[in-house]
Amino acid sequence: MRHLITGGAGFIGSHLSEALLRRGDEVFILDDLSTGSVENVRHLKTHPRFHHFFDSITNKHLLAELVDESDVVFHLAAAVGVRLIVESPVRTLETNVYGTQLVLDAASKKKKLVVTASTSEVYGKSEKVPFTEDADLVLGPTTKGRWSYAASKALDEFLALSYWKEKKQPVLVVRLFNTVGPRQTGRYGMVLPTFVRQALDGAPITVYGSGRQSRCFCDVRDTIEGLLRLVGNDHAVGEVVNIGSDEEISIEGLARVVKERTGSESPITRIPYDQAYEPGFEDMLRRVPSLQKLELLTGFRPSTRLHEIVDRVTAYFQSKVAAQPLPATLPASAMATPE
Ligand code: UDP
Repeated sequence: MRHLITGGAGFIGSHLSEALLRRGDEVFILDDLSTGSVENVRHLKTHPRFHHFFDSITNKHLLAELVDESDVVFHLAAAVGVRLIVESPVRTLETNVYGTQLVLDAASKKKKLVVTASTSEVYGKSEKVPFTEDADLVLGPTTKGRWSYAASKALDEFLALSYWKEKKQPVLVVRLFNTVGPRQTGRYGMVLPTFVRQALDGAPITVYGSGRQSRCFCDVRDTIEGLLRLVGNDHAVGEVVNIGSDEEISIEGLARVVKERTGSESPITRIPYDQAYEPGFEDMLRRVPSLQKLELLTGFRPSTRLHEIVDRVTAYFQSKVAAQPLPATLPASAMATPE
C-alpha cells in the first residue's frame, strides 16, 4: 500500500514511516519542519520506498498530488506541545484547523481514508476517568490559551466526522494519550524527555504544580501498532478511538522513576504553574484512557511498562551524546547534551 503522512518528520510520523516501510509499503511524507526535524528521517532518506517533501500542507497542489499517490492519508501535521500552544495560540489554531480542512478536502475528491490524529487534551478538565470516547468534553474558558489546543482538535474531529456523515469521505479519528519514546524532544514542553535530559545532565528535575497531576505514558511502538490495526479494520471507519496506556502515574512519581532508572543525583524541584507556563494556567488533573473500544476493534491494548519506556528514552539520549563529535580542544567530560 501507499501512504501519505503529513507531519512525517515528526516524532510519531517518523516511527510510523519506519513501521510502514518495514511492512513493505510505500511512504510519502509532507512536513514543513516547524516542529519536525530532518534528523528524525535522515536514516530513511535513501530508502527506495520513502519519499520526503519538506513543504507545508497549505501547498494545495503538492498536497493534491501526494493524496492522489496514496491509498491512506495519516494526518499528523499539527502544532503540538503545551508550551508551544501557550506561546503561539494563533499558529495553533491556524495550523490545526485550516490544515485539517485542506487535507480532508483533498482526500474527499478521491475518497481516500484520512486518519486524523487528535489528542487526549480534548477531554479537558473532565474527572470521569477512564475517559470513554463518547464522554462529555470539559474545556476551560477561551481566555485561557491552553484550551485553544483542545478546542482546535475538537473542531478537527467535528470536521472529520462531518466529512464522513455528509460526503461519505472515510475517516478515522484517533485520540492519542501522552505518546513517548526515542526522538521526542523536550523542546515543546513534553515532560518525559525533559525529565530524562535533566536527570542525565544532573540538573534539577522540574515538577510543575503539586506533582499530584497524573498521566499515562504510551510507548510510541504501541501507539503505532494500535493505529495500524485500526486502519486495517472497516468497522473503525467513522469512529473515534482512544490509543494510549492505562498505567497511571503522578508527575511527582514519574520524576522519582526517572531519577531512579537513570541513577541520577538530580534534586526534584517544584515550580508553580504560573512560572512554568503563564499566570492562571490550568492543568488537567488526571488523564486515563478507556481502552475498551480499541481492544474491541483490534484485540490489542498497549502494554509496554513505564520502566521499559523510561529506559528506552534514556538510552536514546545517551546514544545522542555518544554520537556527538568531540570538539578538538575539549576533553570528553566537557561534552554537553545536545538537542
Ligand atoms: N510537566 C512538569 N515538568 C515539565 C514539563 C511538564 O511537571 O518540565 C507536567 C505538566 O505540567 C503536566 C504533565 O507534566 O502536568 C504532562 O505534561 P506534557 O506537556 O508532557 O503533556 P500534557 O499531558 O500536559 O499534554
